Formats: sequence, structure tokens, C-alpha cells
Amino acid sequence: MHEVSLAQSVLSIVEESAVRENFNHVRKITISIGKLAGVEIDSFTFALENLSEGTVLAHAMITIIQPEAIATCKNCTHIFGLNDRLDVCPECSSNKLDIKNGLDLKITDLIVSDE
Ligand SMILES: [Zn+2]
Repeated sequence: MHEVSLAQSVLSIVEESAVRENFNHVRKITISIGKLAGVEIDSFTFALENLSEGTVLAHAMITIIQPEAIATCKNCTHIFGLNDRLDVCPECSSNKLDIKNGLDLKITDLIVSDE
């Protein structure tokens, strides 16, 4: 059900910007969901498509991108792509990592129409 509430919050954000920026339809929405965000992409897309009916997101093309997580080792400053949250630094085997990208969900692009 995690995916449904995430889809709901994405829809709310889009509806708020529709009011603020005065558009009626979204043609295309691109959502970035980090590989380590723990989101089931299929369930999320399915939930969003269902919730979109009758809203500004109805008929929108939904694109999901999954950026790779980038970790910086706090021990040796090595920077590497992280495939799993439990990965350790390949240089020094430290698990003290500063993780960027890969963990969050955000709307990265919104193509709208006021027709
Ligand atoms: Zn290291």
C-alpha cells in the first residue's frame, strides 16, 4: 500500500500545480524513483494510473526513471554506484556511506496543456 500513498501524493502535487499554474491537462509526467527507494515500480504506475482517472493526469504519459544511487565512502572518500543498500565500499569495505540520489521519489518533468 506504500505505492498507493506515494501515487496519491504525486497526484496531489500535480493537482496543486494545476491550480497554481492554471493548466487542465498533463501530457507527460516524468517521475524519478531512486533504485534504492524501495518502491515497486509496477505497483506504483498501476496505482497512479488508477488514481489519475478524471483528474489532470488522466491520459498523461507516465515515464518512470530510476537513477542509480551514488555513494561516497566516509572513510576513504571513494565514490561509487550503489546497487544495494547493504553494499560496502569496494576500496576499503567500510559501510559508512553517504548516499546521494537513489533514495527518493520526485517529479522531474511535467509537460502540460491548457486546452
Ligand atoms: Zn572506502
